[in-house]
Amino acid sequence: MIRVRNLHKKFGDVNVLRGIDLHVKKNEVVVLIGPSGSGKSTLLRCLNFLEEVQEGEIWLNDGLVNPRKDNLNEVRQHLGMVFQQFHLFPHKTALENIMEAPVYVKKQARQEAEQWARELLDQVGLSDKANAYPSQLSGGQKQRVAIARALAMKPDALLFDEPTSALDPELVNEVLQVMKELADQGMTMIVVTHEMGFAREVADKVVVMDHGRLVEQGTPEQVFNSPRKERTKKFLQQVL
Ligand code: ADP
Ligand code: MG
Repeated sequence: MIRVRNLHKKFGDVNVLRGIDLHVKKNEVVVLIGPSGSGKSTLLRCLNFLEEVQEGEIWLNDGLVNPRKDNLNEVRQHLGMVFQQFHLFPHKTALENIMEAPVYVKKQARQEAEQWARELLDQVGLSDKANAYPSQLSGGQKQRVAIARALAMKPDALLFDEPTSALDPELVNEVLQVMKELADQGMTMIVVTHEMGFAREVADKVVVMDHGRLVEQGTPEQVFNSPRKERTKKFLQQVL
């Protein structure tokens, strides 16, 4: 579904991604881990063409994306994104936040978009919060609305960038639970997270990043129980 080949990204003189090769199959959950500053967020942003890259190829659904020729707004609809800081529109209700892209980007009829938004709210366990504004929601509820909003465009895959890192500890599980349900339903996902329990339980593949490179990848069991690389061992000692 997603194939990255030899991706290089620099900010000025700083090499942030140094030749990334990554495959994500349909229905697969890939958890991306690694030290702060290793390039995880940059990689997700490149996948969604929020960053221009110096070199490399990104293939989506067997098509090579050409950022100079293709309509990137259309390309971005294939990948939904969920951020650490939710990024909800503060002056819109939960329902309106979810309806926004279908109505304004896809030009879907309001009534149809609203019905779909209510289904999504139900899916993330927030049917009763349709008319609540973000300021009236807990962090966990906000993130669940953000997930529903990402799903509203019917993406082929979801990219999560530390979706629970801004949450109070007691709110982490409600978000992980929604993510786990999505995984069980076959949603293709790339998840940057420090939640190693989630990685162990849900990931098909764990990918370890360090200094702009993928240093190791394998099943959770391989990576957590018998890491091959020194850098993986070091990182795991710090987070486990
Ligand atoms: P991670 O998500 O793994 O913590 P990031 O992808 O956020 O890492 O950052 C990787 C490196 O790129 C860091 O050294 C960071 O300072 C740098 N970086 C990220 N975004 C920018 C930017 N917009 N301009 C300059 N440097 C950046
Ligand atoms: Mg990051």
